[in-house]
Amino acid sequence: MSILSGLMPRYCLCCHKRLGLGMHDSIPLCDDCRARIQPLDGQRCRLCGKPLYSEIDLCFPCRDKHAFCENTVPLFLYKDEPSRLLKAYKMAKRFSLGRFFTLLLAEQIRFRWPDRPIVPVPPRAEKLRRHEWDQVEAMARGLERMGFKVLRVLLRRPSREQKSLDRKNRGLNAKEAYGFKPGCEGQIAGLSLVILDDVCTTGATIEACAELLLRAGAARVAAIVIAAD
Ligand SMILES: [Zn+2]
Ligand SMILES: [Zn+2]
Repeated sequence: MSILSGLMPRYCLCCHKRLGLGMHDSIPLCDDCRARIQPLDGQRCRLCGKPLYSEIDLCFPCRDKHAFCENTVPLFLYKDEPSRLLKAYKMAKRFSLGRFFTLLLAEQIRFRWPDRPIVPVPPRAEKLRRHEWDQVEAMARGLERMGFKVLRVLLRRPSREQKSLDRKNRGLNAKEAYGFKPGCEGQIAGLSLVILDDVCTTGATIEACAELLLRAGAARVAAIVIAAD
């Protein structure tokens, strides 16, 4: 960040209220919006982490599901303000939002899985070329600076974009898409891990990565994502 950008007026990304001077290095949200945008709490599905309404323990779609990932925890549902913030983070490269998400992730990981190393989901090479940065890796680096252990053991093979596929083909495509970096497969035997990704839509990516990690000897695999669709 340049010296000049610290002097430009800045506005809250949610309510557009002008932010005070001296906040140039902090999160681009006013205190009110920041306090309002809180991670999900209350009753949640044991598998997918989405809110439960009349159900108990598992949401309806998860009842007949066999899952490799023991528990996915989304910070938010992919709608309303959190989804706008996530889009701003991904597409407009609002790096300062990464800090906001990283703090919330750290809180959840410390609370739920304090001793588990984090395994970031690697991006598609094509996507890296297009956006020139990897928002999941940026959050992983932030967590690393806060003392979390990050294991970058997975790689992503060139494949079709998940968005263009239906549910069944997403599962097949995701399975073929991920693998271990050379020499990394033995690093995770016996470990309990947390997969890190930005958005969980059908869960195909997380399931593919969890299956891979478990087959290589991981003890348990959970996942945390910014938002679930
Ligand atoms: Zn605001
Ligand atoms: Zn569920």
